[in-house]
Amino acid sequence: MLIQKVLPFRKFLPARPAIQLLLSLLLTLVWQPSSWALQTRSDGAETTVSLRLKWFHQFQFAGYYAALEKGFYAEEGLNVHILGRDPGTSVVDDVVSGQVDFGVADSSLIVSRMNGSPVVLINPIFQHSPMVLISLAEKNILGPADLAGKSVMYQLDQDDAAIAATLSEVGLGHKDIISVPHSFDEWALLNSDVDAMSAYISNEPLAYRARGVKINLINPANYGIDFYGDNLFTSERMVNQQPETVVAFRRASIRGWVYALDHPDEIIDLILRKYKPEKSREQLAYEARSIRRMVQPDLLEVGLINRHRFDRIANIYRERNRVPRNADLAGFFVDDYLAPPDVRSMLLRWMVPLALVALAVLALMFVLNQRLKIRVSQKTRDAEEAREEVERYLSILDRHTCVMRVDSGLKVQYISVAFCQLTGYQSDQLLGKPHTVLLDQAHNEIRVGQLLEAIAAGQNWQAEVFLKRQDGEQLVMDVFAEPVMDPSGKVAGYNAVYLDMTQKKNAELLSITDTLTGLNNRNKLDSLLVKESKLVNRGSPVFSIILLDIDHFKLINDDNGHLVGDQVLREIARCLKRNIRETDYAGRWGGEEFMVICANTSLMGAETLAEMLRAKMAGTAFPEHIQVTSSFGVAEYSPGEAIDSLIKRADEGLYWAKNSGRNCVRARPCYVGSA
Ligand code: GH3
Ligand code: MG
Ligand code: MG
Repeated sequence: MLIQKVLPFRKFLPARPAIQLLLSLLLTLVWQPSSWALQTRSDGAETTVSLRLKWFHQFQFAGYYAALEKGFYAEEGLNVHILGRDPGTSVVDDVVSGQVDFGVADSSLIVSRMNGSPVVLINPIFQHSPMVLISLAEKNILGPADLAGKSVMYQLDQDDAAIAATLSEVGLGHKDIISVPHSFDEWALLNSDVDAMSAYISNEPLAYRARGVKINLINPANYGIDFYGDNLFTSERMVNQQPETVVAFRRASIRGWVYALDHPDEIIDLILRKYKPEKSREQLAYEARSIRRMVQPDLLEVGLINRHRFDRIANIYRERNRVPRNADLAGFFVDDYLAPPDVRSMLLRWMVPLALVALAVLALMFVLNQRLKIRVSQKTRDAEEAREEVERYLSILDRHTCVMRVDSGLKVQYISVAFCQLTGYQSDQLLGKPHTVLLDQAHNEIRVGQLLEAIAAGQNWQAEVFLKRQDGEQLVMDVFAEPVMDPSGKVAGYNAVYLDMTQKKNAELLSITDTLTGLNNRNKLDSLLVKESKLVNRGSPVFSIILLDIDHFKLINDDNGHLVGDQVLREIARCLKRNIRETDYAGRWGGEEFMVICANTSLMGAETLAEMLRAKMAGTAFPEHIQVTSSFGVAEYSPGEAIDSLIKRADEGLYWAKNSGRNCVRARPCYVGSA
């Protein structure tokens, strides 16, 4: 239920079910006290209580009628039944037995309490007792002393203390009068033979006088016996079990009394209309005036309690032996049962919930703290594992990858074990050295400039570079360099990863090289011819080829052996390499035939070169003093011509040279197109 109330806030609840359970429990605890506080009122709306009056309906109880009629009880959540006097029962007994919840009684309530009855005074309503003794004027009873030997009718448990106290003032005791139980017949003076009877100053005197019957009146107040009149009371059980109800009933009743005394006519109308009194409007009006004097609302707060007055009344009862000598009024006053309402409600409504909230917060913090600890240790473990993982990878990189870190001063800051092994150095021979320490300077001059330019611009750089091992052997490496930035974004060196391409490069070289002579092989020559023809076809200057064939090579082999023949082939190759331009390509076309591709060269230029080569070869000293000459065929490529056609024309030139006596150069300039 409660968790549904806080449903909109569920996203703030921790996900774990155990924590949700704890939270809901704590929230329930926190919620509950305020529910109790509310319940006092909301359930109060359903609370039905009863009030037993000490007499029949009349203005004597005006405050209660007013509280009911004006909704003061309802506002407090009370449904109040006001019950008139039942002559067959005692109001005190009714309240103590729980038959009714509240009652109205006079000062005899004190006697009940001091004799052990668990009655609790809520408020005295009448500050003075309206009880008087009346007698027919003809009996000539003018004061208490005149009551000696007379029959006096009064309510034994209610009126006797005041009467006894009054008698005592003139030296008389109970035994000096004849006590007669009250018949509750207001006309008893006329209907029976009692000499005097207790009556309310607010009632009977007017009734008798209204009928023209002359009466005398003894008012105890005139003899210093000033008891409280009507008191509103309840039982200990009620005040213990439903203190809020008692407080609410008290509050509404006092409001009712204030209202009734301010609006007597309205309440008289109400009594006449709803409560069927035995009194006329005039009698009720007279009663209202008398009662106003009893309550004294103009002088005192309605319901004012003066504990000293109660103590004095208690003393009178003690002195009359109406109560045990050691009896006192402990537990008599309702306020002794109720903590001051503000403190009590503050405790109930704030302290307890606050304590529970604090408890809840502490518990929540504890739970969250535990979760945090678990998560922190988990994260620490994860971080440790991640660190070990990274170290493993770094170790693999260190052992198997050529990596170099260069600092801002372009000095080697770190070099991997694998790089050291590949280059044959110890790391301390390289650390702190210039970053070019491993480069084969002869091959990399331009490259280093490009590298520094790219890194300074914050760009990556990659290229093929040549390194030199400690033993002097060359390594061909692909390098990938990446700048390192400091926190301010400035370049602070670079990291470089090197891939050893030496073997791959060698394999590639082998595939295009003639193993005997070291010149380009036939395959390479083919691809070079295609490349050059494409350049020409895209508009570059023409190229030409020279095809040469050693003269009578068969004889050389036959006369000197095959190995010498090979040496001759190698010497021819060296001669070609030495005498052609950097932009020309020399290769072995097959057997003892060679080709030179002369880039950017016309037929005439190629013829000149061929003639120069022919002369060089003829003048070269070959092993075994062999005289070696070659014949040359030359052809110029014509744009759009097929390669085969070009070669065929060069071959024709060569054939022509052979037929012209060998050791000469012949060119076939004509290309008539691919008709
Ligand atoms: P010509 O002047 O007409 O060209 O005469 P020739 O003897 O050079 O011509 P021929 O084509 O009859 O002979 C070529 C010889 O070259 C045959 C062969 O044994 C030899 N030869 C081909 N390749 C090699 C090689 O790699 N090494 C050696 N030693 N001889 C080779
Ligand atoms: Mg040949
Ligand atoms: Mg030959």
